[in-house]
Amino acid sequence: MKVKVGINGYGTIGKRVAWAVMKQPDMELVGVVKTRPDWEVLSAVKMGLKLFTLKDRVRDFHEFGVEVHGTVEDLIRSVDVVIDATPEDVGKTYKPLYEALGRKAIFQGGEEEDVAEVSFNALVNYSEALGKKFVRVVSCNTTGLLRVIHALSRVSKVRSVRGVIVRRGADLKEVKKGPIEGLVLNPPKPPSHHALDVKTVIKDLDIITYAVVAPTTLAHIHTLYVRLSQPATKEAVIDALNATPRILLVNGKILKSTAELRELARDLGRPNGDIYENVVWEDSVWVNNDEVMLTYAVHQEAIVVPENVDAVRAVTSLVKDPLESIKITDETLGIKRWL
Ligand code: NAD
Repeated sequence: MKVKVGINGYGTIGKRVAWAVMKQPDMELVGVVKTRPDWEVLSAVKMGLKLFTLKDRVRDFHEFGVEVHGTVEDLIRSVDVVIDATPEDVGKTYKPLYEALGRKAIFQGGEEEDVAEVSFNALVNYSEALGKKFVRVVSCNTTGLLRVIHALSRVSKVRSVRGVIVRRGADLKEVKKGPIEGLVLNPPKPPSHHALDVKTVIKDLDIITYAVVAPTTLAHIHTLYVRLSQPATKEAVIDALNATPRILLVNGKILKSTAELRELARDLGRPNGDIYENVVWEDSVWVNNDEVMLTYAVHQEAIVVPENVDAVRAVTSLVKDPLESIKITDETLGIKRWL
């Protein structure tokens, strides 16, 4: 029997997660919640997704020319798991409803840690989420950091992480957001919230991050300085990165920018030019005894999508082994197989 999944919030993350859920052999997408009838509803209509909305918005959709299937409550009642992809801090307002209707929920990184029992990354702590009621998939930058830290810990225990994050200013559709000029310290005094968020998953890690917001919509870039507990070689670090699911190494002589990377993803037929992997520039990997430096890109709109899919398998205990779930998700989404 397939796990029934509903998506609350059909925006940047919600729509991508919905499309990914539709590709899973062990899941059924029951429907999606959209609060306003606007351009973003059109893809759902075209794809034949069942639309649900707030009680007092049904008429707005009717006037827009689109019929909804029911209310948010109707959708929640008819699923096993809700993936809440509503905007930052809205997810927590739905928690009492999920609780009252006895449904499991997966929240996103815009919510505070205490919204859920576990902050989640499939590679790092899948098992902690097994059978849980409420899980929070950490944000895009945190997901990127955790995957790389996990990969390096395969070489030897990670002693400390220092990182600089160049954040995209907005997603493509966010026409009112900036900056459109200038680089903004975010915040001026470290650590940026990313280091703190990593610690919601790896509690005792010594990590400090700085962040700068840049006028770009394409992707974030992280440069990390990591101290391992034992001396390593460049080959061992590259092998570990290569062997880690959802980490893709690219040649910096061919691909020098996030712009080329996203365009190539489009050229190669990725939906929306989406990149689910951390893309590490192999040329950037520098190793000196126990010191490692590297630079990678994080496509903010896509990186958390496979993590949400795995979180569904974890909370329902559908698959107990993290690598088995990751394998199914990655095969269905073509991860590490498009380049
Ligand atoms: P978004 O604004 O693109 O999408 C949110 C959707 O929820 C919209 O369709 C909006 O209409 C809908 N919505 C608003 N109020 C609602 C309500 N009361 N009930 C139901 N739906 C409602 O936001 P997003 O970028 O997809 O972010 C969603 C979550 O994912 C946030 O927690 C965010 O921090 C996190 N996240 C975002 C990114 C990113 O780069 N966009 C990356 C990782 C994680």
